[in-house]
Amino acid sequence: MADPSTTADRAADPAAGHLGGPAPGDEPAERRLEPVIGLEIHVQLATRTKMFCACALSFGEEPNTRTCPVCLGHPGTLPVPNARAVHFGLMIGMALECEIALRSIFHRKNYFYPDLPKGYQISQYDTPLCAGGRLRDVRIHRVHLEEDAAKLVHEGASGRIHGAAGSVVDFNRGGTPLVEIVTEPDLRSAADAADWLRLLRVTLRQLGVSDVNMDEGSLRCDANVSLRPAGTSDLGVKTELKNMNSFRFLERGVDAEIARQEELLRAGRAVVQETLHFDPTTGSLSPLRSKEEAHDYRYLPEPDLVPLAPTPAMLRAAREALPELPAARSERFSTELGLPVDTARMLAFSAELGDFFEASVAASGDRAGADPRELANWVVGELKSSLGDADPTSSRVRPDALAELAGMVARHEISRAAGRQVLEIVAAEGGAPAAIVEARGLARAGEGELAGVVGRAVAENADAVEKVRAGKTKAMGAIVGAVMRETKGRADGEEVRRMIEERIRA
Ligand code: ADP
Ligand code: MG
Ligand code: ZN
Repeated sequence: MADPSTTADRAADPAAGHLGGPAPGDEPAERRLEPVIGLEIHVQLATRTKMFCACALSFGEEPNTRTCPVCLGHPGTLPVPNARAVHFGLMIGMALECEIALRSIFHRKNYFYPDLPKGYQISQYDTPLCAGGRLRDVRIHRVHLEEDAAKLVHEGASGRIHGAAGSVVDFNRGGTPLVEIVTEPDLRSAADAADWLRLLRVTLRQLGVSDVNMDEGSLRCDANVSLRPAGTSDLGVKTELKNMNSFRFLERGVDAEIARQEELLRAGRAVVQETLHFDPTTGSLSPLRSKEEAHDYRYLPEPDLVPLAPTPAMLRAAREALPELPAARSERFSTELGLPVDTARMLAFSAELGDFFEASVAASGDRAGADPRELANWVVGELKSSLGDADPTSSRVRPDALAELAGMVARHEISRAAGRQVLEIVAAEGGAPAAIVEARGLARAGEGELAGVVGRAVAENADAVEKVRAGKTKAMGAIVGAVMRETKGRADGEEVRRMIEERIRA
C-alpha cells in the first residue's frame, strides 16, 4: 500500500489524478500512472488422497481411474475432510503469518460446468481457514481450503479416451485438495509480481506441502491489474488475467495489460472490469467474461460438513512442522554471515544450494580458510555453473572439498584460476583438492619462479611497457597475460601485477 502520509497530501491536491490535457514541459509526477497488482494463487496440496474422499491423487494415470462415488458427485455420498490437507493449510497460513480461524466454514460454491459433477465446488467463503498475513512486503488477504475441479479434455488431445469425439471429462483431478492464497493489491510492477511469486513458490516448496510445478498446474496464478495516478490511494478498475502459468508469462501478460490500460486511460477512456486471457504466443489479451456475466455462486454453508475447528494439538503439530523459510534464511545469510543480498537470496531460495553452502561453512570451521562470503561466491559462481540444472547433492563436489579448495585460494596457496581448474577436476572425477594440486603441480608459482617469467614478459613486451610508463595502465594487461600464459594460470594476478610494476619502475 502507498504510504498514507503521502497519499493524504496528494488527495488534497486538486491536480492529482488529473489525466488528459497537454502536459506543460516535463510530465509532472501526478500524471504518471502506477500499476496496482494483486494475485490469486491456487496450490495443489501434495497429500496422498483427495480432499473429501479416499481416492489417490492422480499424476497422469489413465483418465477416470482415480474416482469414487464421492468425487463423482453421486447423490447420497458424504464428504470427509482430509486431515493432512488441513495440516498443510495450517502450515501455509502460519508460514504466511496469518491469523488462523479457530472455526472456519466450508461453503458450496454453485455453478454449472461439465467438470463439476456435483454442480458445486466445496470451498470456503466468508470464514476462511486463515486471514490477514504477509509475505515480504505483500499482505495476504486470505488463505482457504477447497477442492479442485475435474479436467475437460478436448478432442485432438483426447485420442486415447475411448476414441470419443468432442470433449470428454477426466475426473481424476476432481477433488484434489487445493489451497487458495489471495494477496492484497500490494504489488507495483510485473517484474515485482513475478519475483514475489518466486518467493511464494520456494516458500511452499520448503514447507513440503506441494510440488509447486507451474507446468503441471500444481501452482496456478491469476493476476488482477489496475492503474491509478501515482501518489493517489483509491483503486482503479481492475481486470483479471487468468492462468498465468509461468513466471515469464505472468510478467509478459501483466506488462501487456498495463500497456493496454495505460493507452485507454491516456485516451480518456475507461477500463472495463473483465476477465482476460493472455495468449503468450501472440502476446494478445482477449476477454473471457465481463462483470455483467460474472457468476453469482449462491454460496451456502455445506450442510454435510461441520465447521473446521483446529484443536490445540493440530495447531501445535503445524507449527512444529515449519522449517526455516527462505525469506528468513536469506535474512540470516546477509545479517549473520555478511553475504550481499542477491547472493543470500540465490542461496536461500534454493534449499539444496543453501544446504550445500552451510555445510561448506561448517567444514571450513575455524581453520584459516575462506570466509562465508568467499564460500558463497564459489557456490553461486563456479559450483552452480558446473552443475547446470543438476542438484548439488548429485555432484561429486562435496561441501568439505569446496571449503578446502576455497581455503587454498584464500591463503594464496593456489591462484583463483587454478582453483577453478581443480573444481572442474573434482566435479568430473572426484578426489581431494590438495591431492589434485600436488599431483598436477598446480601450486601457486612462487616469487622465485615468477621473477624469471616476469623478467622475460617485460623484456618481450616493450611496447606495453612504454605505454604503462606513459600512464596507460590498461597496457599492463598484455604483460600480465604473458605471465599467466607461461605459468598456465598458477600465478596470483595481484602478485604478478606488483612484480611487473616494481620492475618497470626500477
Ligand atoms: P473479486 O471479487 O473480483 O475476486 P477481490 O476483491 O476478491 O476481487 O480481489 C481479488 C484479487 O484482486 C485480490 O488479489 C486483490 O488484491 C486484487 N484486487 C482487488 N482490487 C484490485 C484493483 N483495483 N487492482 C488490482 N488488484 C485488485
Ligand atoms: Mg476473485
Ligand atoms: Zn474419490
